[in-house]
Amino acid sequence: MQTGIVDADVVVIGAGALGLSTALHASLLGRSVVVVERDQAGSQASGRAAGLFKSVQADALRTELARRSIDRAIRFADWAVVQLDVVRSGSFLVARTGEHKAYLEAEARQSRSFGADVREADDTDLAGRLSYYRGRGAQFALWCPEDIYIEEPASLVRAYVAACRLRGVELLEAEAVTGITLAAGRVAGVQTANRTITTAVAVDAAGAWSRQLAELTGGAVAVAPVRHQLLITAPTAEVDPAAPISRVVDAAVYLRPARGGLMVGGFEAAPLPVDPRAEPASFSTDDVPLDLEVLRKLAGQVAAEVPLAATAPVAEHRGGLFTMSPDGRFVVGPLPDVPGLWVASGCNGSGFSSSLAIGEALARWICASANRLNIDHLSPARFGPMTEERLIADGIWQYAHYYDPALPSGHSATS
Ligand SMILES: Cc1cc2nc3c(=O)[nH]c(=O)nc-3n(C[C@H](O)[C@H](O)[C@H](O)COP(=O)(O)OP(=O)(O)OC[C@H]3O[C@@H](n4cnc5c(N)ncnc54)[C@H](O)[C@@H]3O)c2cc1C
Repeated sequence: MQTGIVDADVVVIGAGALGLSTALHASLLGRSVVVVERDQAGSQASGRAAGLFKSVQADALRTELARRSIDRAIRFADWAVVQLDVVRSGSFLVARTGEHKAYLEAEARQSRSFGADVREADDTDLAGRLSYYRGRGAQFALWCPEDIYIEEPASLVRAYVAACRLRGVELLEAEAVTGITLAAGRVAGVQTANRTITTAVAVDAAGAWSRQLAELTGGAVAVAPVRHQLLITAPTAEVDPAAPISRVVDAAVYLRPARGGLMVGGFEAAPLPVDPRAEPASFSTDDVPLDLEVLRKLAGQVAAEVPLAATAPVAEHRGGLFTMSPDGRFVVGPLPDVPGLWVASGCNGSGFSSSLAIGEALARWICASANRLNIDHLSPARFGPMTEERLIADGIWQYAHYYDPALPSGHSATS
């Protein structure tokens, strides 16, 4: 039995990007905060992310969260007093079909109305800036100068941890939360094998495990974990390390320079759902089966433009779990019927990049700060009861339509 920490204003469960950002922002608002992590900080989805930030999003709130996160990442040292290196590369969104061209044109108009800087680009721009991309004259592209990436995802995790420690946040690693105690129906404490921490506020930021955490109290979080993978090629002179990110939306493939090679990731139509509740208690992201063939097929879809994506030797192949929600939006806010239990989940593949603004908005909501971004529409309460089959089917649809969730000819997952 360990001793020491006995109470906190806020206990955050899970030291991924969403949990650490929420903890940091709650501490900046003067709260005492403990983060409990069953493994190591950033060891699961957050430490495996591609590190991409994307200013073009499907609605006004997500655009605001994405753009605020970019701004806070760039200025991290100013407000968190810890250095964070970001690559201000900009990005191209590329469409090779008429349908996706029309989609991108509409998306550009919408994003501009939300304040994002989005410009039309042509083959000359692509050829001039993307060393690894061979334009074929048939594409339509958008240039998004605001977009950035973080080369190694662990560096954001380390920056959050350092900033948390500066603010006195306690981080307990290798300690799993096993229970959430209630008193008179409200959160009263968080239990691990070693201790009970008295608190009135617990935040479920357990990533792919957020459903089972909420279920400890009888609560429900509507997310379906789905596998996502990427590869990094061996270093090659064909990739200029200063080249921007590119996203080929009709192929659902993203590319960026990485470690002297090229990072290649994408969204297959039929991704693998994984439910940690059906796995042994020891299940971790290391147990998610990887399948290089999926990435080879995605790379094959852009083989004419980016031959090395499919042919270059693979230096790293990694993957983990996205937490997909039925409507593709984050699941952030108070859990209905369990006062004191808050959720930061439903990353839908953007939880790493949006963590800066989501953690800020959630911490301000928890602390009833007058100056808060209204994220009420992300509340877990928006979903009613749903069958498991529906939850997974909608999550898969959102995954497969990551770059075109409002494609005019596409069906809507929740309609
Ligand atoms: C290959 C890949 C590429 C990606 N690329 C991007 C990208 O480019 N941009 C982007 O924005 N997003 C990206 N994502 C998604 C992004 O990684 C996630 O949205 C984000 O990391 C989610 O953060 P999280 O804090 O919710 O989850 P996690 O990082 O998984 O953290 C949850 C933590 O909770 C802990 N936990 C679970 N159960 C318990 C318990 N009982 N007690 C204590 N702790 C517990 C876990 O150990 C874990 O550390 C990518 C994901 C993958 C897999």
